[in-house]
Amino acid sequence: MTAQPLVQLSDGNAIPQLGLGVWQTPNDVAVEAVRTALEAGYRHVDTAAIYGNEEGVGHGLRAAGLPRREVFVTTKVWNEEQGYDEALRAARASLQRLGLEQVDLLLIHWPSPWRGKYIETWKGLVQAQKDGLARSIGVSNFEPEHLERIIGETGVAPVLNQIELHPRFQQKAARAVNAAHGVKTESWSPLGQGRLLTDPVIANIARKHGRTPAQVIIRWHLDNELVVIPKSVTPHRIRENFNVFGFRLDADDMAAIGALDDPEGRIGSHPLHAKF
Ligand code: NAD
Repeated sequence: MTAQPLVQLSDGNAIPQLGLGVWQTPNDVAVEAVRTALEAGYRHVDTAAIYGNEEGVGHGLRAAGLPRREVFVTTKVWNEEQGYDEALRAARASLQRLGLEQVDLLLIHWPSPWRGKYIETWKGLVQAQKDGLARSIGVSNFEPEHLERIIGETGVAPVLNQIELHPRFQQKAARAVNAAHGVKTESWSPLGQGRLLTDPVIANIARKHGRTPAQVIIRWHLDNELVVIPKSVTPHRIRENFNVFGFRLDADDMAAIGALDDPEGRIGSHPLHAKF
């Protein structure tokens, strides 16, 4: 298996820095994508209750036949399940669908501030970890104010915050706040949902290294010490996206990609305004 970097988490656990994302992947497709990824060397899969594919992910994990402790599995509590009891119930339901006794990482999917429940939900995740349902707990789409509130109210910091992050939306301020609290940053839509793959700056760097645009972008996340979960269901792309450990970007490449940052570059919803 290819040697791959691990990122140390504040609770003593570690997460493989590169994982497979499975958003918008139906159950039957997820089985094959997960199996292909694990055979290619991935040891980390990112799903969520709302993706509707936890069963497929579980089947894919079993099809690959690796020892359970060798694969890092993340799932997320959906917004409609926010609340203390609801989050615990949601965690158990996810485990049942996945066919696992424990996930490696359980996240609150969105703060959904209009519901006014993310602090209670976080307390539910703290209990879920105590109950052994999750080895580590974290958040997704949390703005600095949400992060600081849950830490202030519970004294428990999430190990990680999974946020939209790619060369066109680099989230430097959010990364700094995460880091100040010992919270690792994980990049969702790391390829800009595929839109960044035709960017001429990325294409030039790819040519220079004899790599593909996707590999250059994934390498950029790795070189920025971000956890990264590119999605593909196409076997050769799943393998391509993992074949990123044999090269590094130089200072010129990093500067050129750094200059692509755009405050308007967000693709997904704004966590403060999303009404779901
Ligand atoms: P992404 O940025 O990973 O882009 C995926 C798309 O890029 C693919 O569908 C494919 O069209 C293309 N692609 C991938 N590899 C390629 C390659 N080698 N060559 C050519 N094209 C390629 O997009 P994403 O799925 O939005 O994000 C990745 C993961 O992040 C998701 O699957 C999910 O696990 C997670 N995510 C989380 C949240 C959240 O709210 N927490 C939101 C969105 C995504």
